[in-house]
Amino acid sequence: MTIAYRHLDNKGLPIALPVGKAVCVGRNYLDHVQELNNEVPEQALLFIKPSTSFVPFAEAVTIPSGQGPCHNELELALLIGKPLKNATPQQAMEAIWGVGLALDLTLREVQDSLKAKGQPWERAKAFDGSCPLSGFVPAQQLGDLQQLGFSLEVNGVSRQRGDARLMIRDIPSLLCEISHCFTLEPGDLVLTGTPKGVGPLNPGDALNARLDGHLQAQAKVQHA
Ligand code: ZN
Repeated sequence: MTIAYRHLDNKGLPIALPVGKAVCVGRNYLDHVQELNNEVPEQALLFIKPSTSFVPFAEAVTIPSGQGPCHNELELALLIGKPLKNATPQQAMEAIWGVGLALDLTLREVQDSLKAKGQPWERAKAFDGSCPLSGFVPAQQLGDLQQLGFSLEVNGVSRQRGDARLMIRDIPSLLCEISHCFTLEPGDLVLTGTPKGVGPLNPGDALNARLDGHLQAQAKVQHA
């Protein structure tokens, strides 16, 4: 499958950045840690989605067949515009091109069985199409990124409500910690974790994701 994915801005225009990896953080909102009976990790819990996981949110959200429930995890996605390695908080904040919404699709039973065996999570979280992405709002239009709110409705019913002020690790801390493990390059993304409200998606579901006051992205769920 060839995926012609490009990062787009909030007007639907291509952004002049390459398409890289997504570094994702797990367990960054206490209400979600509690809903899955997990513990708050001492170090940030990090994993990576490859560029083959990216698809435009608006086209369709495609979930795999025959692998058990596929859960929504709506997250703030930071689009990186400058290289970051061993960054300071100031360098980290200056490197953010903009912010959009990402759906960290997760095959929950697959993930549970991988966790039980102590195996990595890629089979559950890094499959083709596992990261639908909205457009990105330029950072200079957003004000304080740590005050952003976001939400997901499924079939008109509220399912997730996120508030960046409630992150366990805030945006500069996350970017610094990540950049000490992995160099972030222009065009990479950082997914900042999901609030509570994860649950199964089904074919035909209508999704409506919002970055409060800045953008809205809608999609239908379909089977692969
Ligand atoms: Zn996630």
